[in-house]
Amino acid sequence: MQTSVNSSLKPKVQPFLGISAKSSNAKVSKPKPQTAMESKKLRYTLQRTAQSLLYDRNALKQHRVCSCHRNVASDGVSLWRKTDGSNARFGNLISCGSVWSCPVCASKITESRREDMQKAQTAWILDGGSCLLMTLTFPHAADMPLAELLEKFSKALDHYKNSRTYKRIFGTATALVAQNARKNKPMKNVVEGEFQRLGTVRSMEVSHGENGWHPHVHEVLFMGNDALLSSTRAKDELTQQWVESLLKSGLGSREQLSDMYQYAFDIRGGDYVSDYINKFGREPVKLNGWSIAHEVTKSNSKLGKQGRQIGKEFHYTPFQLLGFSTDGDEVAAALFKEFSKCFEGKRMNYWTNGLKEWFSINETEDEDLAIESDSPEEPKEELVARIDTFQWQNVLKTNTRAELLIATAKGIDAVNEFLQTLATRPKTHSGLFLDRARPDINRFFH
Ligand SMILES: [Zn+2]
Repeated sequence: MQTSVNSSLKPKVQPFLGISAKSSNAKVSKPKPQTAMESKKLRYTLQRTAQSLLYDRNALKQHRVCSCHRNVASDGVSLWRKTDGSNARFGNLISCGSVWSCPVCASKITESRREDMQKAQTAWILDGGSCLLMTLTFPHAADMPLAELLEKFSKALDHYKNSRTYKRIFGTATALVAQNARKNKPMKNVVEGEFQRLGTVRSMEVSHGENGWHPHVHEVLFMGNDALLSSTRAKDELTQQWVESLLKSGLGSREQLSDMYQYAFDIRGGDYVSDYINKFGREPVKLNGWSIAHEVTKSNSKLGKQGRQIGKEFHYTPFQLLGFSTDGDEVAAALFKEFSKCFEGKRMNYWTNGLKEWFSINETEDEDLAIESDSPEEPKEELVARIDTFQWQNVLKTNTRAELLIATAKGIDAVNEFLQTLATRPKTHSGLFLDRARPDINRFFH
């Protein structure tokens, strides 16, 4: 179905997006970034492309990613490394907190959200509950603009949620009822569902393939048990309702009905993490492989050149489009800009009211989540050096932020060696940044 990737099927080589795509699928065997520093380097490269694409010389206010990890909060930029050399970061820089358009910030934000999601899932399973994953999508056409698709998709989702079928099957979320009871505001019109549901976490994502944009929604349903999975009648009713909601909103047509029944709706059970928790009473120490928490927080920000195979089609995430654009693909560049414009300001994860409170999970702004700071885990961090804003400008002009971080991970000698070569390097990029850009709490510590 839509969320499954059949690894036994060999990806075929096919043209996708102009010049870069011809080689992209041929390189599918290329390994993913292995180390934290390799991954960081790629994120900085992609972020620089996003900054170029979204910078508008005629605009009064630029997209926030344009100043991310460029603007300095105060007195130069500090360089931090893990004492074992496994990682490094900048201190005293401004983060943009854009989960959609900034590969550097998205990495921090989505990891924090994954942890929240996993915390809730673990607690719920230990409490005897079950987490199901529902996926909603629709047949799409190559020529439909993303803005139009999203508007219709959102109408379809509202129609589905407000339908009698949905309400009868899922009822009112019990965490919402509990929240209102705590506030002494008993709810009217509480519907007791056929299958008891504590609440839902919805995540929105979009990929792009041969047939254009492919928005889809995942919902993690916190259910009392797995009974819904064995009720063919309930699943058929939900499928039927979703297809009706799509048609009502102008997505899909009568001619596509059989495809819609087959592909537009999916519901499945727990992941290997749930199985592990059920068996051992705790989360696995090492996470590897697909999990529900990954699916709803991280799949939109996948990097690398390997597309995800859905049916016969390869799909690419917005950051993968950014990668093609970095290689010079103008079609991919235009698609990323279209995506960024449509998604900026939208929420990636939506928890139904009362659910975060139920699991004692705090609301944190994306911008706060994006600030890189020392983690309490070993190995500890140490301050390697602090460079002044003149040197920082040269780092930006030579587009060597990732290179400087790699040197920082190695230590002060590597940083000094890097800095010695900096003045004579070709200035290939804009060195635009703001000094003392905004008071930042980090400056008091770094
Ligand atoms: Zn950012």
